[in-house]
Amino acid sequence: MAEPVFNRLCLVGIGLIGSSIARVAKKRGDIARTVVATTRRAETLARVRELGIVDVVEDDLGKAVEGCDCVVLCVPVGAYAGVMARIAPHLAPGCVLTDVGSTKGSVVRDLSPLVPPGVQLVPAHPMAGTEYSGPDAGFAELFEGRYCILTPLPDSDPAAVEKVREMWRRCGSMIEALDPATHDKIVAVVSHLPHLIAFTICGTADDLAEETKEAVLKFAASGFRDFTRIAASDIDMWRDIFLNNREALLEMLARFSEDAHALGRAVRYGQAEFIEDRIRRGRKIRHELIERKQA
Ligand code: NAP
Repeated sequence: MAEPVFNRLCLVGIGLIGSSIARVAKKRGDIARTVVATTRRAETLARVRELGIVDVVEDDLGKAVEGCDCVVLCVPVGAYAGVMARIAPHLAPGCVLTDVGSTKGSVVRDLSPLVPPGVQLVPAHPMAGTEYSGPDAGFAELFEGRYCILTPLPDSDPAAVEKVREMWRRCGSMIEALDPATHDKIVAVVSHLPHLIAFTICGTADDLAEETKEAVLKFAASGFRDFTRIAASDIDMWRDIFLNNREALLEMLARFSEDAHALGRAVRYGQAEFIEDRIRRGRKIRHELIERKQA
C-alpha cells in the first residue's frame, strides 16, 4: 500500500460528501492514517459512530481539527464563515485546508481572510453527488470516474495542491484546475441552472388546480419525473448555492430565458426548422456526454 497522503484528516460536516470521503478513506487506507469527523448535531455524530466509518468522532470543532495536517470542509457553503471562525485558532501551521463546496468564488471570499499564517488553502469541488443527504447517503464509489475541480489560489503552495490532487486521485476522480470565476460560471450552467429550473417546474405543477395536480403526478413518468429527482435535493445546500453563486447564476438564467423565449416564439409561429435544430443540439449534447462516460 502507498504511503497515506495525510497523517490526520478531519472532515468538518459529515453528510453525503463527507461520509463518502470517509468511506473511501477507510476502504483504501492510503488517504489518511487517521480520519476524524465533527459536525454540529449530536444525532449526526451518534449515527457516524454507529456506522463506524471514521476513526475518531469529536463533538468540539476546535478539538477536532487540532493536530490535523488536512481539514476538509463538507458543510453547506453558507456555513463556511461561521465554521472557519471557530476552527481557525486551532489549525496547525502546515495544515492543508480544503473543501468540497459547490461554489468557489464565495469560498475564497469567506475563507481567505481567516486563514492563519502557515495554513494552506486549496479549494476543491468534487463534481459528484446525488439528491440524498446525511451520513447514511454516502458511498465509497461516489467520486469514481467523476471530475474534481481544484481552484488553487495564485499563492497556494504547490506541494499542498499536489496533496489535494492526490487525495482526489485516490478517491477515483479526474482532476482539473480552474480559477474560481470560471468554475462558478461552468457550474451555474451545468448544475445550478438545471436545479433552478427543476425547482421552478415542480412549483409550477404544484400551482395548478387540484385535479390537474393529481393528473400531473399520475402521468409523471414522462420528462417531469427527471425534474422531480433533481428537485428533491437538500434545502440548506441549494439555498446556500443560489445565494453564493448569485452573479453567475443570474447571468445564465438571463441567457436561458432569452433562448427559451426564442424557442417559444418558434413554436408560436410554426418555425419547424428552428425547433428541429434545438432538438438536434440537445441530442448531440446527450451523445457527447455518453461518449465521455459522464452520462
Ligand atoms: P449534507 O449531506 O446535507 O451534509 C451536510 C453536513 O454539513 C452535515 O454534517 C451537517 O451537519 C453539516 N451542516 C449543515 N449546516 C451546517 C451549519 N450551518 N453549520 C455547521 N454544519 C452544518 O450535504 P452534502 O451533500 O454532503 O454537501 C456538503 C457540501 O458539499 C456542500 O457545500 C455542497 O455544496 C457540496 N457538494 C454537494 C454535492 C451534492 O450533490 N450533494 C456535490 C458536490 C458538492 P448536521 O448533520 O450535524 O446537521
